[in-house]
Amino acid sequence: MIDQFQRPLHDLRISVTDRCNFRCVYCMPTEVFGKDFAFMERDELLSFEEITRLARISVAHGVEKIRLTGGEPLLRKGIEELVAMLAALRTPDGRPIDIAMTTNGSVLALKAQALKDAGLKRVTVSLDSLDDATFQAMNDVKFPVSKVLNSLDVAHSVGLGPIKINMVLKRGQNDQDVVAMARHFKGTPYILRFIEYMDVGSSNGWEMADVVPSSEVVARINAELPLDEVAPNYNGETSRRWRYRDGDGEIGVISSVTQSFCHSCSRARVSTDGKLFTCLFATEGHDLRALMRGGCTDEQLSAVMARIWSERTDRYSELRSIETGKLRASGKKKIEMSYIGG
Ligand code: SAM
Ligand code: SF4
Ligand code: SF4
Repeated sequence: MIDQFQRPLHDLRISVTDRCNFRCVYCMPTEVFGKDFAFMERDELLSFEEITRLARISVAHGVEKIRLTGGEPLLRKGIEELVAMLAALRTPDGRPIDIAMTTNGSVLALKAQALKDAGLKRVTVSLDSLDDATFQAMNDVKFPVSKVLNSLDVAHSVGLGPIKINMVLKRGQNDQDVVAMARHFKGTPYILRFIEYMDVGSSNGWEMADVVPSSEVVARINAELPLDEVAPNYNGETSRRWRYRDGDGEIGVISSVTQSFCHSCSRARVSTDGKLFTCLFATEGHDLRALMRGGCTDEQLSAVMARIWSERTDRYSELRSIETGKLRASGKKKIEMSYIGG
């Protein structure tokens, strides 16, 4: 199944909850996601059966990778049951699906073994600094670095690897820690990835001046720990890889702002309440929950999903400057990352 720019549907990201125990400044700022914020009610969320149904149909359409995300996916009660249900799916030619999760690591140490037993393959853990003051200013709930580091070790020891670490950079907030992070994770089993701060959602007050371009990140690290660029692992990999010249591991940079990768974007996203989005920067999704709860058959759902993907023309990052202007002018709200799933 291919879209209007010949891109296949290959990855599915599913947001299993819009709630989170962190208030990262670039994602769920406390001023917006405060005590009175109305998160979704339980019956608004897709059930595990509904999620698995959509996943099964997507797999029949070519999806081979499913990533559970959120909000904080480990806050969804019984998440390991969902992992087990998804792990039972097979591609049309009988192969298992690659099931991964992105988590803030806050409760991962407690859940890692159960997730592994249920069939989760890998985790990506977000960590924006090794310095408690900086990290806590970013997560805004005083969560300590040491607990995330412990989660990493537990997840690694139960075999949820290779583990990637996501560090979102916001200028003036944590970019002073780039080299310290690189040094800390060099030579460990963890692959550190530096992510450009994106203008996703409408809450974070994004400005281009806050973005630390990946080229600058690579230059800063290279000045102290020499790097060589290496080829991508597969076509469409979002991260560009750089290996330490002394052979002691690699880093990745994800340049969603300065070097967009729309041309190879093969991802669909399902929001917490079952809307299908074909771009992270969409303003509207397609309501699959309404179809499912309205009694639609698998064949009908499958046809709807095929039509949506085949009509897809998204390439927001490529058009960013023009589109951002247009969206501001139109007053349309972009969808929040915690709802659509990062
Ligand atoms: N709560 C989990 C976590 O933080 O890993 C999963 C959901 S979070 C939305 C997924 C990823 O998106 C995280 O690595 C997070 O750092 C990243 N993210 C959130 N807002 C972002 C933004 N504005 N720009 C770039 N990355 C962002
Ligand atoms: Fe929560 Fe993840 Fe967003 Fe931070 S990035 S607020 S941990 S959903
Ligand atoms: Fe894919 Fe949209 Fe991101 Fe482009 S902007 S890479 S189409 S999600």
